[in-house]
Amino acid sequence: MDDKVQRSEEEWKKMLTPEQYQVCRKKGTERAFTGLYHDCKKPGIYQCCCCGNDLFDAKTKFDSGTGWPSFSEPVRDDRIRHETDRSRMMKRTEVVCRRCDAHLGHVFDDGPAPTHKRYCINSMSLKLKEGTRG
Ligand code: FE
Repeated sequence: MDDKVQRSEEEWKKMLTPEQYQVCRKKGTERAFTGLYHDCKKPGIYQCCCCGNDLFDAKTKFDSGTGWPSFSEPVRDDRIRHETDRSRMMKRTEVVCRRCDAHLGHVFDDGPAPTHKRYCINSMSLKLKEGTRG
């Protein structure tokens, strides 16, 4: 696994836009249909905007109709971590970058076969590295 990336709140604030900071470091959620990638169909690898960790392959992206980028699986299971999120009177599974602990979004069990997973991820937490892998 890649080395852990740890920075102070002040360092993250300097590195990120205020919107990215709010989503990634404060577990915020961008408004649906406002992000850069919900409608994006370009090939490539979606990386963590905080640490560059490869998170999701565009090949696993699908149109969920939710207004957030949605993926059926991560590039590798060890790129992310799941946390139980009990905020907002709901029990949800939060998805976090394993390398830098950035909040990415949530995962639900209503995705397409064969994984049936729907990783519902904020555009704000991602950076698309365009192009296909050989
Ligand atoms: Fe990260």
